[in-house]
Amino acid sequence: MRYKLDSTGRKRVTLIVGDGIGPEVAGATRRIIEAAGVQISWEEREAGAEVFKRGLPSGVPPETIASIRDTRVALKGPLETPIGFGEKSANVTLRKLFETYANVRPVREMPGVKTPFTGRGIDLVVVRENVEDLYAGIEHMQTPGVAQCLKLMSKKGCERIVRLAFEVAVSEGRKKVHCATKANIMKLTEGLMKRTFEEVAKEYPQIEANHIIIDNCAHQAVRTPEQFDVIVTSNMNGDILSDLTSGLIGGLGFAPGANLGDEVAIFEAVHGSAPKYAGKDVINPSAVILSGTMMLRHLDEFAAAQAIECALMETLEEGVHTRDVSPSGSVSTTAFTDRIIQNLGKRSDRWKTRDHKPLHVKALGAAPDYVRPKTRRTVGADVFVESALASEELGKSLESLVEGSGLRLKMISNRGTKVYPATGGMTDCVDHWRCRFVLRDATTSLDDKSLLDLLHGLSTKYRWMHVEKLEEIDGEAGYTRAQGED
Ligand code: NAP
Repeated sequence: MRYKLDSTGRKRVTLIVGDGIGPEVAGATRRIIEAAGVQISWEEREAGAEVFKRGLPSGVPPETIASIRDTRVALKGPLETPIGFGEKSANVTLRKLFETYANVRPVREMPGVKTPFTGRGIDLVVVRENVEDLYAGIEHMQTPGVAQCLKLMSKKGCERIVRLAFEVAVSEGRKKVHCATKANIMKLTEGLMKRTFEEVAKEYPQIEANHIIIDNCAHQAVRTPEQFDVIVTSNMNGDILSDLTSGLIGGLGFAPGANLGDEVAIFEAVHGSAPKYAGKDVINPSAVILSGTMMLRHLDEFAAAQAIECALMETLEEGVHTRDVSPSGSVSTTAFTDRIIQNLGKRSDRWKTRDHKPLHVKALGAAPDYVRPKTRRTVGADVFVESALASEELGKSLESLVEGSGLRLKMISNRGTKVYPATGGMTDCVDHWRCRFVLRDATTSLDDKSLLDLLHGLSTKYRWMHVEKLEEIDGEAGYTRAQGED
């Protein structure tokens, strides 16, 4: 069950009003949902700034976690991440705790909201992977001057986000899904998403499936945004692209979002707590109101969601605007909300809303080893070494270290570019070297003892900080070549 009922049959929702402008935008949304006649049992819980100040480093108290675990649905205002009261964002903590792996961010042209794109009919959804990729935040200083962030992407993570993107298209009657990746450069991580997209697309023959390189997608999204319907991306790409698309239709005041997982859904606007406007009754509540309509559809309240969306559009079409849309002649957040409530039941002929069907996403297998290969072999290892030597000197020294062993030095690269044996290039090197050792006998598999012997030998002369085994999985290289490596 996607949601739970209380003893009187009302749908239960955890409400976190949040920080800054949160109480105003979340309060406006609650008033409108209640005025639309939806019976919700709100469970108000805390998270964010005040919780950090009380000394809880996660910013999310156990009562809030327990409530969401129980209700399975939350409507959330923005949460601040105050500097000095805890380093982790309470928003990210909530997304990760409940494995809400999908971040769905729709944007559409809104009546009366003038932008350089007015009249183009922008109406698209960015479906962004929400828990993997660079935002997993696994970072290490490899040398005092070289930092690393791991970009971890899983087959399962790619499959579930891609599948959800196609299901969003089906539920909203959309015709196309673009998968936007940087697979041309990151062949294994971003490439995994591209390949998975191509496999899953076969299950949706009625939907046009296109791959597009992410930088071109950003370019196309500004040149001809109306060509896009659903765009699915990895985490960081989607974060950037969805802010860009919200800019096309009038800004963060109109950008709603849903964090969806197999068990829990958390609905929130893209924007933050805009502290300078807190308590001033001037901000635009539309993004949270639209997040609220996404929540209502999740609760199977399709008619109420449509009525609220229509009333919002009617209000904007009448020229009733908050300060961000019409700096002169604007109304307060409260007056804007009152007008939406008065307009419930009205429907513009010019501004259509989509008919939504329930979103069906099948959960994938729970086994952690989601992919089980038939064969695998370790053909060598990349050892990352810190050294102030020049590449030629380091290369010769490493070659002599492995002389007579089962391994040979194949090459050394510096930040991804092969520098030894010399290529004739002019690479500016730092003290962080990836040294690739491969088995002399290419028919065998590298055992851990030989690898440990290699590390032991290296450590007599050099500081090593990181090792990656070179795996061959089902006959395919599970590693990429360095730039310039043959
Ligand atoms: P922000 O709160 O989104 O505000 C940036 C600017 O966007 C505002 O100054 C305002 O622009 C405009 N804006 C945002 N919401 C608006 C609304 N409802 N109506 C009209 N205009 C709106 O971003 P920030 O200042 O970078 O972040 C502030 C805090 O929010 C930080 O602590 C951050 O960590 C947090 N945050 C939370 C979330 C979340 O909870 N999901 C997301 C992002 C940021 P003008 O100045 O041009 O009027």
